[in-house]
Amino acid sequence: MRAKGRRAIGIMGGTFDPIHFGHLVTAEASRAAFGLEQVIFIPSGNPPHKHDRVVTAAEYRYLMTVLATSTNPYFRVSRTEIDRVGPSYTVDTIEELRDALGPDALIYFITGADAVMELMTWNRPQEILTQCELIAATRPGYPPADFQRLRQAIPQVSAARVHTIEVPALAISSSDIRRRVASGEPIKYLVPETVEQYILKSSLYTRSTTAGGHGHGGLTEMWL
Ligand code: ATP
Ligand code: MG
Repeated sequence: MRAKGRRAIGIMGGTFDPIHFGHLVTAEASRAAFGLEQVIFIPSGNPPHKHDRVVTAAEYRYLMTVLATSTNPYFRVSRTEIDRVGPSYTVDTIEELRDALGPDALIYFITGADAVMELMTWNRPQEILTQCELIAATRPGYPPADFQRLRQAIPQVSAARVHTIEVPALAISSSDIRRRVASGEPIKYLVPETVEQYILKSSLYTRSTTAGGHGHGGLTEMWL
């Protein structure tokens, strides 16, 4: 599937509010299918809003990502976007990683199919596609229409860099998990047990603490 001897690293960016088995299954399936040396999870910094809602403070999201990935020896978590001062763009993260790995390494950017077309609206998308191979997770048997559109939207050289992988857990979403917690429904078996316990212990996503998502968070605020 790739040239022998070249390092191959996967990265998975996200809000991870919270991280769930959809993310984890996709990362592990990509690692196995593309022979990735490791997959680096990169929680986003604190955007003031995402889809008109306040995103949970970065430290909570980072800690949940660490908890969720701790049992997989191939998984790492990076603080680079959380700690970056000023606006944080994926393309900057990829450039940072490219500098660290050198020109020969292959960087696989792992994303859900829903985010594939969004990618064209990000900062300097062509540069992302020049630097990376793209892995788009799709539901088994349903290659998304968006995927074809993306291939048409990008130059031929980049189109060869777009791969798909079928993931059975694609129906899980962070928004559904937040909704479930807020309405008292179970989230067991949708997130790792450690994440479930951390959400309950920290009272995340309950109505009374939604405003406590805060957006500007940090350890002092959490009294950890
Ligand atoms: P939200 O519901 O708040 O949008 P989300 O579940 O989509 O959250 P994100 O943190 O926004 O999670 O997603 C990070 C990355 O993981 C994106 O590339 C997204 O497409 C992908 N992703 C999200 N859910 C799944 C899933 N169930 N299977 C595979 N990939 C997923
Ligand atoms: Mg999403």
